[in-house]
Amino acid sequence: MRADHIRLLHSRLSASGHDLGPDVGRLTPALSRAVAAALPSHAPPADWQGWPATRQAVALLQALARAEGVEAGPLDGWWGPQTAHAAAAMLARDSTGHLPDWRDITPATANPNGWPAESGVTAFYGPHGTPDGPRPPLVQVPSPWTFRIAWNLSQTRSFLWAHERTAPSVARILSRIHHHYGEARIRELRLDIFSGDYMPRLMRGSRTRWSMHSWGIAYDFDDSRNRLHWGADRARLAQPEYRPFWEIWEAEGWVSLGRTKNYDWMHVQAARPD
Ligand SMILES: [Zn+2]
Repeated sequence: MRADHIRLLHSRLSASGHDLGPDVGRLTPALSRAVAAALPSHAPPADWQGWPATRQAVALLQALARAEGVEAGPLDGWWGPQTAHAAAAMLARDSTGHLPDWRDITPATANPNGWPAESGVTAFYGPHGTPDGPRPPLVQVPSPWTFRIAWNLSQTRSFLWAHERTAPSVARILSRIHHHYGEARIRELRLDIFSGDYMPRLMRGSRTRWSMHSWGIAYDFDDSRNRLHWGADRARLAQPEYRPFWEIWEAEGWVSLGRTKNYDWMHVQAARPD
């Protein structure tokens, strides 16, 4: 918890009548006592009284987020990405008067490479791959940073598969992302977590439509923090620090389903939704 998160607690507890003294951005004994007094009314786990003061404070922040309509995950007192996201949303609402809103996002519509509509991908790229059959023409695009494989983080790879028609664009995009963020920030933002490129399969929930991954023209990043059905209120890649990442893809005509449709925030593709 950072000082501004402590301030959130301080302001909420002061507003509900606790006498806490001045806000010093730290968990003072008075603040800890107020946390312990407020927590029971939010139905915390049975053993909460045995938790250290910091964990109780995190739990109260989770409870307050929930009470204010911000999804914060389970009330467990552990500071994870979901709690961090909830705290960021509460701080944003305190300063702007509203929650960060997906409708405030305006994806760029440039299409300098002339990527086709989804209905025209076969005409443009040729046939999709199938699990046991032919593959589309794929090339390895070297990445300026090393990817970690989402389902086995100790496994790495240093390239992305790309359809030969998108490969030059993918190379430019990776280079720009690397130039913008740098290696350390890429890792910090988990933009090095690879969750998929070429993968011949049907679209989730469809028996007839092939996923854009079947042509090697789509990528997924950090799926565990950007679940398929999560909206901008939960998906990591919807947060403001990822805007340059998306703008770099969009400048090359790629489409983020998150930024255009507010689901599947992990995914970007070289085809325009129909
Ligand atoms: Zn995808």
